[in-house]
Amino acid sequence: MNKMIYGPVPSRRLGISLGVDIVPYKTCSYDCVYCQLGKTTNQTLKRESYVGPSSLLDELKETIDLNSDIDSITFSGSGEPTLNKDIGQMIEKVKEFTQIPVAVLSNGSLLWDDKVREDLSLADLVVPSLDAVSEEIFQRVNRPIKGLEIGKVLDGIKALCKRFKGKIYLEIMLVKNINDSEEEIEKINRFVKNLRVDKIQLNTVIRPPGDPNAKPLNKEELIKVKALFDPKLKVELIPDFKRETSRVYQKDLEQGIIELLKRRPTQKEEMAISLGVHPNEIVKYLQILEEKKIIRRSQAKDKSGVYFIVA
Ligand code: SF4
Repeated sequence: MNKMIYGPVPSRRLGISLGVDIVPYKTCSYDCVYCQLGKTTNQTLKRESYVGPSSLLDELKETIDLNSDIDSITFSGSGEPTLNKDIGQMIEKVKEFTQIPVAVLSNGSLLWDDKVREDLSLADLVVPSLDAVSEEIFQRVNRPIKGLEIGKVLDGIKALCKRFKGKIYLEIMLVKNINDSEEEIEKINRFVKNLRVDKIQLNTVIRPPGDPNAKPLNKEELIKVKALFDPKLKVELIPDFKRETSRVYQKDLEQGIIELLKRRPTQKEEMAISLGVHPNEIVKYLQILEEKKIIRRSQAKDKSGVYFIVA
């Protein structure tokens, strides 16, 4: 397992977010074309007890004591958090000792399971993903585990929306020429317009994806997609967070990445290990450094993956 707690990190939608990672690296039911963490190495739908609530709580208490301004405790991380079957107990224990809101970022693929929905019931916010409603596009964008069909995922999301008492933000990750056609967006709109969701958040591939063929939409394209939704729905483009001015932006981590890349091209997984930080934290800094044009990506000639180099 990676470190269970990472950050706090500046998050575009959750403010200052303390990440909680409760599944081993790339344990997921999907292998999304845009995944910032790279290829899924343990593709599964089987829920397991990867890490017990008590070790999580010790680590969490220690970090919260050192950081007084956390806006959200966010279960996400190295894969799909609902694959940890203790997530319900963990949320319950966290709520017993802090009033900081608890959010769960989930791919939504297990919500058809009553126990999973029950486990999430104490969270303040659930952010399920929904990138497609057509089977063919679902297979292309999310590359789910064999046998998992979109109909089952849609039933799970509907069931969550009926009973869950907290907030639900539905995230749609748009990938150019895969799930951004007018036809698919209209189908998604028809599905969501009768659901009780608080917001729909349109996102695109702004962090370095595992598959270099996953391309982002530009701002104009995102605005066009937004206009296709029913005006009664609250749809937003995930706004840019002022990360460099954020209280938790670590200039020394930024510098550490630059120094490492000056010495040699490096992949993000190796960077995370070398610098002793969670891969999710690294990708946020890589995104910022790419936007500032300090670093850039380079595809290895032997196709072994994407390396980062100083621009
Ligand atoms: S993006 Fe999320 S759901 Fe998709 S493969 Fe990566 S961890 Fe799994």
